[in-house]
Amino acid sequence: MVIGASIGGLCAAKVLAEFADRVTVFERDDLPAEPASRAATPQDRHVHLLMARGAEELESLFPGLLADMVADGVPILENRPDCIHFGAAGHVLGTQHRLQDEFTAYVPSRPHLEWQIRSRVTALPNVTVQQRGVDEPVFDGHRVTGVRTADGEVVDADLVIDATGRGTRLPAWLPQWGFERPREDSVAVGIGYATHRLTIPEDLVREKVVVAGASREQPLGLGMLYYEDDVWTMTTFGVGKVPPPEDFAGMQALAEELLPAHLSAAVQQAQPVGEVAVHKYPASRWRRFDELDRFPPGILPFGDAVVSFNPTFGQGMTMTSLQAGHLRRALQGPPDELATTFLTATNKTTWPVWTMNAIGDLILHRAEGPMPWWYRPVGSLFDQFLGAAESDPVLAEWFLRRFSLLDSLYMVPSAKLVGRTVRHNMRLWMQERRSRSRRSPGTAGSAPARSA
Ligand SMILES: Cc1cc2nc3c(=O)[nH]c(=O)nc-3n(C[C@H](O)[C@H](O)[C@H](O)COP(=O)(O)OP(=O)(O)OC[C@H]3O[C@@H](n4cnc5c(N)ncnc54)[C@H](O)[C@@H]3O)c2cc1C
Repeated sequence: MVIGASIGGLCAAKVLAEFADRVTVFERDDLPAEPASRAATPQDRHVHLLMARGAEELESLFPGLLADMVADGVPILENRPDCIHFGAAGHVLGTQHRLQDEFTAYVPSRPHLEWQIRSRVTALPNVTVQQRGVDEPVFDGHRVTGVRTADGEVVDADLVIDATGRGTRLPAWLPQWGFERPREDSVAVGIGYATHRLTIPEDLVREKVVVAGASREQPLGLGMLYYEDDVWTMTTFGVGKVPPPEDFAGMQALAEELLPAHLSAAVQQAQPVGEVAVHKYPASRWRRFDELDRFPPGILPFGDAVVSFNPTFGQGMTMTSLQAGHLRRALQGPPDELATTFLTATNKTTWPVWTMNAIGDLILHRAEGPMPWWYRPVGSLFDQFLGAAESDPVLAEWFLRRFSLLDSLYMVPSAKLVGRTVRHNMRLWMQERRSRSRRSPGTAGSAPARSA
């Protein structure tokens, strides 16, 4: 049984269907027959980036998904030089070259992706999706044996997956059942989102993905994605409780400030479609179920119910799709090790991504939360790396692949790449110094603008 039929619940249901005779998914929201926003997933109005790794994982879970999305008009980014504008932490990456390694990304809107996946899950012969809310799991003093639905029925299940999102009540139910409440790691990022859909005259923009992340100096950022319906979605956001503009004129003004001239000019000529949607995301949250000595048999938390990542990094759906693989491996093992195997594997994939996000948020995004001493030096090294990646395509490509969660979830460059970064920045520093001394011969020894 699965509670919640969003991206997490649907991925979990697909895996369960490989092992169980019967899978029931309960969803309290109305589920539209076509791709459309839903009341219970307000985030689906805002820019959702599907990382290249997420696309790979979802394809292996739902074979044929990517081809069907492309057939339905979802833009596909092959390793072309002109499809991405990517700014991160105050640096614009040098992605204007052809990437060396194969790199394919897909740009479905969130409602389209969920609809594609839902259509596949509902077509499975042993899965039923019921539009019914769940009040709470039923605990018999030893294990979870099913759920009580909002209309009062008790439905039995061998295993209940809690995919109710970041608002899960499992941390409160555990102590009621005699277990410890899990510790919660939290980074108070104080993010505000404001989103408009736009039409932009054809041929003004070749890019399909435009990202201008927030930085230490600039707490506002912007993302623009071109989706399958030929409409752009533009999300402006603020970190550290700085509100983004919430009207179209304000968004256009921000685009002018953050984007290169050709993209900003296109936004000035855009026509807004519909109303502005706003959303507040106070904090990233990681519930440490993995640390509990005892966990009740018969239930597992899944997706955002375990960990919800800063949405401006675009990782949530991809990290959820990785949990699907962990669930499959856990179900293949001994039943009494199910929770430990799943939660340990989820911890292992969450840690590197959570930690890198926390470093970025605490150092660059005015976030509040515990900060170990080593975050600051790692953050400074990364700033150096991104500075070099502005003009070194090899570094830019390495960053883009890791950012897309390909290759490895660890954002740790090899010693060779660190050496390359230092040499590159030294070269830039020398060039800058030479050109300064040519411009004003008397100031040749003055302080460098960029430290190496
Ligand atoms: C503003 C914002 C932007 C984001 N941008 C990105 C992005 O760019 N890229 C990315 O990969 N991820 C992004 N994410 C994260 C992404 O949306 C989630 O990681 C993803 O949806 C997986 O979440 P989930 O399925 O676990 O939970 P949710 O999507 O929150 O779904 C929970 C589901 O459970 C149902 N439910 C809850 N309680 C009950 C109940 N008692 N009974 C029955 N049903 C119930 C709800 O109705 C809902 O359908 C973003 C998130 C936010 C908030």
